[in-house]
Amino acid sequence: MPSIYELDPAALAAHLGDEPRYRAEQVWRGLWDEGLALGDITTVPTGLRRRLAEEFPSALEVANDVASDLGATRKWVFRLHDGATIETVLMSYADRVTVCVSSQAGCAMGCTFCATGQAGFTRHLSVGEVVEQVMFAARYAAPRRLSNVVFMGMGEPLANYRVTVGVVRRLHEYRAMSARHLTVSTVGVAPAIERLADEGLPLTLAVSLHAANNETRDELVPLNRRYPLERLYAACERWLATTSRRLSFEWALIDGVNDTDRAMHELADYAAGLRAHVNLIPLNPTPGYLVRGTRSSRVHEFRLGLEELGVNVTVRNTRGRSIDAACGQLAAVTNAHPTRVTLRAR
Ligand code: SAH
Ligand code: SF4
Repeated sequence: MPSIYELDPAALAAHLGDEPRYRAEQVWRGLWDEGLALGDITTVPTGLRRRLAEEFPSALEVANDVASDLGATRKWVFRLHDGATIETVLMSYADRVTVCVSSQAGCAMGCTFCATGQAGFTRHLSVGEVVEQVMFAARYAAPRRLSNVVFMGMGEPLANYRVTVGVVRRLHEYRAMSARHLTVSTVGVAPAIERLADEGLPLTLAVSLHAANNETRDELVPLNRRYPLERLYAACERWLATTSRRLSFEWALIDGVNDTDRAMHELADYAAGLRAHVNLIPLNPTPGYLVRGTRSSRVHEFRLGLEELGVNVTVRNTRGRSIDAACGQLAAVTNAHPTRVTLRAR
């Protein structure tokens, strides 16, 4: 049985068979508006509730649950039906509550500085497995309303294209989420960006750039060898022309690698023609990449330098570092960092 979150209203009504029509609406509202677990939709009679909860067991089993930032950041490791594990991070801010979802168990892109990339690919997630991450977080966030969903957890969303589009479409139609509240982050799968531009979906696109010369980007992001910066640029132009929506670039600042003045000018040149917004992320530590993040005084300088070059830029704070929940640290390890211990012992 698929996840109940994969059904549309007609399929849900059909599944309920002879039940009165308003029952389907009650279940629907409980699931999508209130974010309740099936067993907790008390508007529905107990028998039916139980039946549904048995027919549609949750796709996610909590394998680990940790908090940091005084409880404002929470990370769950979920075990899926086949034993694959993924991670989901909930971040509460004064003005918004954001969930960072995984689109794949692992990732095949192999970016050198990313813990998910270091661990390799296990499998694609289904629409239900991604939506359930959102709804699990929504339930936990209550009474605050989960306001933002970012596809920045494990995996490359545009490598699991059909699922990503399916999830965005459902969140828009069934949770009334708009482009400002839905962000898909991609490592730069150029043809998929172009295809996505034509879908007409309400979403914000973030491209993980990290380097604006091919030599450095080939090293950091192996996919660059397939879709080099020129090809990526053409896809970004198409995104802008088709959607008229602002594009952003992610740039994880790595000491001595992409935080030099030369890198700053290359980034400014690349971003200028696309009027892109730049998000600087100080590199978060991962076990398999022994290069440091840029120190904070240089992060500051780099930011000011970009601003002087006319770039719109923000520095992303590093929520969840202490629990390996920050960008690039998601590897679904439920025990304590075996890789890191090995490295230290050498
Ligand atoms: N695969 C997609 C989305 C998941 S990664 C992508 O790469 O865009 C989410 C973001 O975290 C990306 O911008 C990624 O480049 C960044 N990231 C990966 N490893 C990181 C690290 N060690 N420190 C900081 N950011 C990192
Ligand atoms: Fe995959 Fe993104 Fe990590 Fe690269 S940065 S390995 S694309 S999750």
